[in-house]
Formats: sequence, C-alpha cells, structure tokens
Amino acid sequence: MELELVRWLSENLPPHPLLRIGIGDDAAVLHWPTNGDLVVTTDAVTDEVDFILAETDPRLVGHKALGVNLSDLAAMAAEPVAAVVSLVLPRKGCGGRDGKQLAIELYRGMLPLAEQFNVAIAGGDTNSWDGPLAISITALGRATVHGPLTRSGARPGDYVLVTGALGGSILGRHLRVEPRVREGLLLNERYELSAGMDISDGLALDASRLAAASDCGVALRLDQIPISADAVKLSACDRATPLEHALGDGEDFELLLTAAPEVAEQIVREQPLGVPVTFIGECVTHAGLWQMGAERRLTPLDASGYRH
Ligand SMILES: [Mg+2]
Repeated sequence: MELELVRWLSENLPPHPLLRIGIGDDAAVLHWPTNGDLVVTTDAVTDEVDFILAETDPRLVGHKALGVNLSDLAAMAAEPVAAVVSLVLPRKGCGGRDGKQLAIELYRGMLPLAEQFNVAIAGGDTNSWDGPLAISITALGRATVHGPLTRSGARPGDYVLVTGALGGSILGRHLRVEPRVREGLLLNERYELSAGMDISDGLALDASRLAAASDCGVALRLDQIPISADAVKLSACDRATPLEHALGDGEDFELLLTAAPEVAEQIVREQPLGVPVTFIGECVTHAGLWQMGAERRLTPLDASGYRH
C-alpha cells in the first residue's frame, strides 16, 4: 500500500517553492531562509478521542489533524512553512474504505488547508495496525522579524483579548478548525502584543495557563466574553449555561492575547481582523484565575470547574 500511496501523493501534492525534495526519498529537503527562527509543533489526534471516524467524513479528520497544528503556529505568530504527516491506519479500514482509500481521503482533507496557508506537505510515514486510526503531524513554521509570540510575556495591568466567539465547538467547529494564522501574524506585526496562545482546552483552563506562564494572574470580565451561537444552542439541550460553555468547552482554536491597555484599546477600536477581537479581562498581580466584578473586586474562578 505504501508504494501506491506514495505514487498518489507524488501526483497530487502541489509543488512548493521551499521544498527541494518532497515525498519519495528517505527524507525531505527544505530550503530554509537564513532569517527567521524555526518554530516547530507537533500534535497527534486519535479515533474515538478527538473524532469518531465511523461517524465522520475522513476529509474532515484530515483537515482537523493539520488545522490543530497550524493553530499552534498561529498562536506563536509564526508563518507556516511545511508539515510532515504520520498515519497509523486501522488494518481493516473503516466505513467500506480500505487503508489506502482512507489515507487518500485524509490527505484530501489536508490539501485545501495546506494550500490555503501555503504549507508544503514535505513527507511522512504510513503504517497499519489492529488499533484505531491515529494521525501525528509535525508542522514547521518561521518566526517573523516581530519575533515569536509566547505565553510568558503578560504583565499585571495588561488587557486580555480574544478573537471570535467561544463555546459549543462540538457542534462542528471542533472539526472545521479555522486556524487563526493570518490573524496572529497581522496582530503581531501591527501591534505590540505581550503574550498569546490558542484556546484548545477551554478559555478558563487556557487563560490560567497563560497566567501561570507569565507569572501573574488573569481576571476575566464574565459579562464581556463573546459567546458563540453554538454555545447558546448547546445550552438549550443540557444544564450548562452559554457562558459555562464559552468558559469550559474545548477546541475553539481562537487566539487569547494580552497587550498593554492602550495597545489593546487600539486593537478593539480598529478591529483589524475579519473576526471580532474582544476585551475580556485584565492581568493582575495575584496568581491564578479570577472573575473581576463590580468595583474591580476579584473572586476566584475555577479553571476547570465548568466542564460537564
Ligand atoms: Mg496551543
């Protein structure tokens, strides 16, 4: 199968200006421009954990597997360059597809996203086993002259911003990941951000991680948090409120950012992205996650307590 798949890939993967040697040799060769640090991330997704293959179009699974990696590059404000893809396929196939057909459908899901963000699929590995489908992707990106954006630069007094709207991704956005690559690059280029990350495990948990990495606290203004229509829809069928979904649901893949107050105010005023950027809180001296109420009173907010 591997040979047939390699043939399919060599016919279907588009050329890329930085890719000297792609799939088919022992390793890929990329031309790496001398300026710009290499930014590397890797993420694996597995059947029955991150998706249910029997109920999902494998192209969406492929899209997600690449999308979550690009979201991590977006979080670092790095330009995506290339990705390597390792597939471990179920030997018996799935949904009437054999292993090779399944692999091709997974790639068919990745290719449009790779093209959209100019990512070379530089190589990878394909194996079969008796277990469920697992996909591991490593994405390579390049930091710009504005440097990588990290989690650790937030300071007490900085404002906290978020892109898009949060919660309820399980209704479909968790598969149709839209990595905020252009948004991360544009904001990092145009404004002086102090810290940033992508929201993969829920706003509350990820905000507490950013706070810990920056050695400060984060106080959220719960009435300011942008709630997605999916969170509202989901709350009609369970006992969690839309806000609880926005705080606790995972896989939003939006950007959580911090900047000095005047910079954050400028971003919110200018709204330079196609998606909204919203002020949702402030960094504070007291470590941990807080809710900021009237007269700036802080009460502890459970980072994981909203999970249902
Ligand atoms: Mg991340």
